[in-house]
Amino acid sequence: MLPIADCHADTLSRLLLLEDDQMSLYLPQPKHHSDYPRMRAANLRLQIFSIFTMPYEAGHYGAVRSLQMMQIFREDIRKHPDLFALIESKADLAQAEQNPDKLYGLFSMEGASPLCGDLKMLEVFYRQGLRAIGLTWNHRNELGDGLGVGSNYGLTPFGREVVQRMNALGMVVDLAHINEAGFWEALELSKDPVIVSHANAKALCNHRRNLNDEQLKAIQAKNGFVGLCFAPSFLNNDASLASIDDAVRHVEYLCEQMGPDHVAFGSDYDGIEQVPRGLETVDRFPDLVERLRGLGYSEENLYKICFGNVLRVYQDILK
Ligand SMILES: [Zn+2]
Repeated sequence: MLPIADCHADTLSRLLLLEDDQMSLYLPQPKHHSDYPRMRAANLRLQIFSIFTMPYEAGHYGAVRSLQMMQIFREDIRKHPDLFALIESKADLAQAEQNPDKLYGLFSMEGASPLCGDLKMLEVFYRQGLRAIGLTWNHRNELGDGLGVGSNYGLTPFGREVVQRMNALGMVVDLAHINEAGFWEALELSKDPVIVSHANAKALCNHRRNLNDEQLKAIQAKNGFVGLCFAPSFLNNDASLASIDDAVRHVEYLCEQMGPDHVAFGSDYDGIEQVPRGLETVDRFPDLVERLRGLGYSEENLYKICFGNVLRVYQDILK
């Protein structure tokens, strides 16, 4: 079975809502979309954990919550060093490529308001292992405006500083959720590839979070990737009908537009309320791969989409 890299799941923020002794990825969590036993069943090898805080948790409280989320995975690593590892460097990525026995995690902040508008906080989080940031969520923060604001403003001066400092530190800039003006400004400003960790094609499903063809081409030109998102409302204009068939259609379209080197997975498990038919939980990933194989995708291209593209971009950027 091919290894899977998933670029976006809110599993740690879900775990943070549980009692202390239940806050573990290792324990089965049947009410969640994802947990260690089911990740292993899918041969999921690299999980990029969203460090997500709600708008009402902005600023200092969000910083505390973010550190607590990161600590959940650190505790799992401490208790099960043979099963879990954190990716902080190119060398760690090489380990993940070679060693099928561990689940590798990587921390990515979704919405940068826990930085509290202070570049020093970027350094603090970097030292805690943060290696990617989605600059905004749907609302306005210190860096720019999310898609929910409805503005045409680009990045703030602080937002531009953060992108430049992220480039210098070797962190991945994620443009999911940012408004279009911010998308273009950050894409042009970043000297490294940029990604959209979880979104689909607007041509197939007209949701504000999906990307138009021009954006897809720009991500390709920048040598980044787009992670296919399983949110039903991003898959099908009638979310109630969303299924694995739509996921396949979006993969095909993304490959048509950008080529197989720029397509990945960003499920948003444990962050989405509804799930598409056929992709209800993390252990269904192999079904999606099997569907693509049935359409004639080569093993080489399947490997890239499942794992290789994420590895390549993070290898490019991390120190
Ligand atoms: Zn999101």
